[in-house]
Amino acid sequence: MCELCAAAAIRPRLARRNFLQLAGVGLAASLAAPRAFAKDNKAPPKPENVLSPDAALDRLMKGNARYVEGVSRRHDFKHEREPLTQGQNPFAAVLSCADSRIAPEFCFDTARGDVFVCRVAGNFADEEIIASFEYAVAVLNAPLIMVLGHDACGAVDATIKSVKDGTTLPGHLPALVAAIRPAVEAAQADSGDMLANAIRRNVILNVEKLKQAAPILSAAAAAKNIRVVGGIYALTMGRVGLIPGA
Ligand SMILES: [Zn+2]
Repeated sequence: MCELCAAAAIRPRLARRNFLQLAGVGLAASLAAPRAFAKDNKAPPKPENVLSPDAALDRLMKGNARYVEGVSRRHDFKHEREPLTQGQNPFAAVLSCADSRIAPEFCFDTARGDVFVCRVAGNFADEEIIASFEYAVAVLNAPLIMVLGHDACGAVDATIKSVKDGTTLPGHLPALVAAIRPAVEAAQADSGDMLANAIRRNVILNVEKLKQAAPILSAAAAAKNIRVVGGIYALTMGRVGLIPGA
């Protein structure tokens, strides 16, 4: 069982009382409090991944530039697997759409153990996604979170149609619509292309949601131990454009 699965397995036993304690005593002290959610103090298996938030963003964007130019590096599993059996210390966490055309590990030219990726159609942060990033930040020491939207997003487009027409989509799709609806409503005040605006608004809203997710992510962001940024992946070129201020 991997560390994350182990953490997930014990999550129900991680008492609400402990989380309230986290909020009260601050992030640093909290990390030592619940053994079930303790910081990984082992030597990082990838020392090159111990980066500042700014350096982590710079590395992501340089990786994307290589990907765009078609000069991605070789990431050979055979040579990477041994250190990664001892643990993980990703230098970035990415919240991406589940769209099969978007592959964060590829588009940032990263290897196993480099990027902690959570994916859901419409790249929004629900409770489980926030908990996953809490693990990435508090336990794995990831210094950067990027919310990665993409153009022509089907989940956002379906939400626009559902909101516009007042229709209810089948199955569990209304859950996606409910999560993306705030971005669509915000975009109605924007001029220009509705889908592009809603995709951008959706990234910005989820960046803010993660920045403000108390007690762990909000404390880490306030202490500047992490940065939370937003980007849009362009299907045509594969280039990730950062959203200013997000
Ligand atoms: Zn999408």
